[in-house]
Amino acid sequence: MSDYDVIIIGAGPAGMTASIYATRADMKVLMLDRLSPGGQIINTNYIQNYTGVGSINGAELAMKMFEHTQELNVPFDYKTVTSIEDNGTEKIVHCLEEDASYSCRAVIVATGTTPRCLNITGEEQFKANGISWCAICDGAQYRDKDVVVIGGGNSAVEESIFLAGIVKSLTIVTMFDLTADPMACDKLKEFKNVTIYPYQDILDFTGEEKLTGVHFKSTKTGEEKTVSCDGVFEYIGLTPVTGFVKDLGILNKFGYIEVNDRMASNQEGIYGAGDCVTKNLRQVITACSDGAIAAQEAAHYVQNL
Ligand SMILES: Cc1cc2nc3c(=O)[nH]c(=O)nc-3n(C[C@H](O)[C@H](O)[C@H](O)COP(=O)(O)OP(=O)(O)OC[C@H]3O[C@@H](n4cnc5c(N)ncnc54)[C@H](O)[C@@H]3O)c2cc1C
Repeated sequence: MSDYDVIIIGAGPAGMTASIYATRADMKVLMLDRLSPGGQIINTNYIQNYTGVGSINGAELAMKMFEHTQELNVPFDYKTVTSIEDNGTEKIVHCLEEDASYSCRAVIVATGTTPRCLNITGEEQFKANGISWCAICDGAQYRDKDVVVIGGGNSAVEESIFLAGIVKSLTIVTMFDLTADPMACDKLKEFKNVTIYPYQDILDFTGEEKLTGVHFKSTKTGEEKTVSCDGVFEYIGLTPVTGFVKDLGILNKFGYIEVNDRMASNQEGIYGAGDCVTKNLRQVITACSDGAIAAQEAAHYVQNL
């Protein structure tokens, strides 16, 4: 007899939604997170595009989501999961703290991503307060202001096209030339308020109380420059938080969990949900949707065992 029917790893929007659906499907559920429930939205000033709630502070939305799980008495524990042992119809979830481990019939991995960072001076200080990793989310704050986008790949260029229509000036600073889709690059270059600095090393972010600029150096000529700005968006890639399941054979070459349209991985009883799975749009609403689908599928799987 397993300790739980379903263990949900990660209590972000995907995990919390999964816990609600799994509990309502009469499953014995445990939800684990290494941090406070909420995931990435805790560090976001405003969530702008979650249907029906308008603009809401990220921490407030996280609290509302967690309260919803607690109305259903979902057990939650602070644990860092280090591995999943897959013994067929029983899985063992191993945790760092006190060497705890729990058995269950199905697991939903909803551990999200972390934005890749530059790890340079000023980045930590201005994180979520001048430096953002999500233009769809935070772009509107910079209407008629000066913004720098760091990166030159598809995400950087696509998000820059969105930002260029809102902001006063947009400066792209990138390590190489733009590497995005040529059509997207052409579209971006049509904006009169866009300046591009290719082949640059970002040195540091400037400012005391408030972010004031980005300091960089040409890798071709060695010339240094500081561009003044009110906000910075970094698009130098995302890293899925999936290292602890790498031995299960469920990840693609970029480290994302490969799932089908029912959020099932290629291992029976192991599901993925939210930002850590292969998908095109990583937002709260899609994370919640994934969580709901994964929980329903996990419940069917457990009921059929
Ligand atoms: C700055 C910023 C602004 C954003 N703004 C918006 C917005 O306005 N609107 C919008 O829709 N989206 C926004 N997003 C995107 C949104 O935050 C994500 O799409 C959403 O949080 C994904 O939810 P998730 O549950 O999949 O993952 P996450 O929110 O990343 O949650 C994953 C959880 O798993 C936990 N975890 C990870 N590893 C382990 C482990 N080994 N053991 C236990 N727990 C673990 C983490 O602590 C975390 O709590 C924004 C993102 C950022 C970074």
